[in-house]
Amino acid sequence: MNKADIESVQKLLETPKNIVIIPHKNPDGDAIGSTLALWHYLKKQAHQAVIISPNDYPDFLKWMPGESTIIKFESETEKATEILKDTNVIFTLDFNDLSRIGDMEAAVSESEATFVMIDHHQQPASYAKIMYSDTEMSSTCEMVYNFIAFLGDEVLIDSEIASCLYTGIMTDTGSFRFPSTTSTTHRIIANLIDKGAKNAMIHNAIYDTNNLSRLQLLGCALKNLTVLEEYSTVYITLSKDELSLYNFKKGDTEGFVNYGLSLKGIKFAVIFIENMQEPYIKISLRSKGDFSVNEFARAHYDGGGHTNAAGGRSDATMEETVTRFKQLLETYKEELN
Ligand code: 5GP
Ligand code: MN
Repeated sequence: MNKADIESVQKLLETPKNIVIIPHKNPDGDAIGSTLALWHYLKKQAHQAVIISPNDYPDFLKWMPGESTIIKFESETEKATEILKDTNVIFTLDFNDLSRIGDMEAAVSESEATFVMIDHHQQPASYAKIMYSDTEMSSTCEMVYNFIAFLGDEVLIDSEIASCLYTGIMTDTGSFRFPSTTSTTHRIIANLIDKGAKNAMIHNAIYDTNNLSRLQLLGCALKNLTVLEEYSTVYITLSKDELSLYNFKKGDTEGFVNYGLSLKGIKFAVIFIENMQEPYIKISLRSKGDFSVNEFARAHYDGGGHTNAAGGRSDATMEETVTRFKQLLETYKEELN
């Protein structure tokens, strides 16, 4: 964040404000962790702050301090719309374009509030007056840590804020293993532990609260995994019927796509998941090295994200989507080898 932007934020937050904090649709650990951390911080400074999430999120995020106050636009539309009308400042966290908040976009774009973006996704849109965008960052949580530090308030980071920030950094770095994890990331993590983040408890709460049907769904996904050796690629499919068979709940498929990348020599892994309610396929893409799944998702799946992790959708059937995917790979053959 540059000096001018830090000064603008300081001025903006000088007097108590009505603030709304928004994560992206289908929020993950980084989105919920960063919004909650910022919320705790702003509350400490006598601002009125609320988090409005576009929709619900997985149960494994529901232990987080302050989580029960989060308003969900999808199920509490009227309440959320009223709050948005009366807000002076809107923080948008962990996304780069208002289209990433789904049905909430109209209500948010109508607002005359001052927008502040904190985000690490590529190609950010320019709706925010104050932009803290850094695509090199491991996570939005790492950026919220920096944001608080830029404002000279590191001392205000308590165990609740520390736990929220730890969670998002941990989930977005694949437990500190992706290339975006720097020595600075580790220094921040060390500070967060010093400030009271219970690291072992957090790993347990996020990763070790599976139920049997979720593990069986993973088994089904792995059975469906197809290796396309000539493209160093794997893909997984999950149909609606398979999801129902294993009592699919939001968040159950999180992380499944990464198993593909654990195969030796594989650089590109994709999972195609039929949506339970509407006729489209949610696609998650992961890569190793220079192959940009952000570009791939933007070009073919109306999506985007980061170089090594992106998402998108297909409105065709599963069969058509997979056939088309295999055809597309032919054009990327050189890049993938
Ligand atoms: P996931 O595959 O876990 O849903 O998402 C991976 C990354 O891609 C995340 O950083 C997420 O924010 C981003 N992403 C997921 N779906 C979409 C999408 O439809 N559009 C864009 N622009 N980014 C997405
Ligand atoms: Mn993130």
